[in-house]
Amino acid sequence: MTETSAKWQVYDGVQANDLKEAVKIAKREGDGRWKWAASPGNGKSYSVLQCNAHVDCPVLLMVKKEHNGFFLFTKHQEHTVEKKQYKRKNSCITYDEEAALKLGLDGGTKPGGVHLARTLKEMRELEEKGENPLLRKKEGGGLEGVY
Ligand SMILES: [Zn+2]
Repeated sequence: MTETSAKWQVYDGVQANDLKEAVKIAKREGDGRWKWAASPGNGKSYSVLQCNAHVDCPVLLMVKKEHNGFFLFTKHQEHTVEKKQYKRKNSCITYDEEAALKLGLDGGTKPGGVHLARTLKEMRELEEKGENPLLRKKEGGGLEGVY
């Protein structure tokens, strides 16, 4: 299937009040991993997402406003085989690790939400500095400097 012969196919209807909400719902499709496509649409009548779950995956998901509601369309329905480990090229934590961090770091006696939020913030800061937050984990869970 080439770029020019590929056609958008109706996939599903979406119950939403506006395009933003429809896109939010669309992002739960599949593995729930989507990024803005190279041509992301106009953000008013339609938005286009690209699969971010597989390496170089061509699968596109379009959220489009029609006169009778919002609809999802897909193009290039064949996902590539290789699963993407990292959200971004320069990301040092994988999806799995991020999920584990979110679940695991919050097991202590601290008021959960606050501690988790601070830990995730810390994690992102480390990641931006190019450090692997998982290597900074102290014994008993949590990151250094997060109490
Ligand atoms: Zn894919």
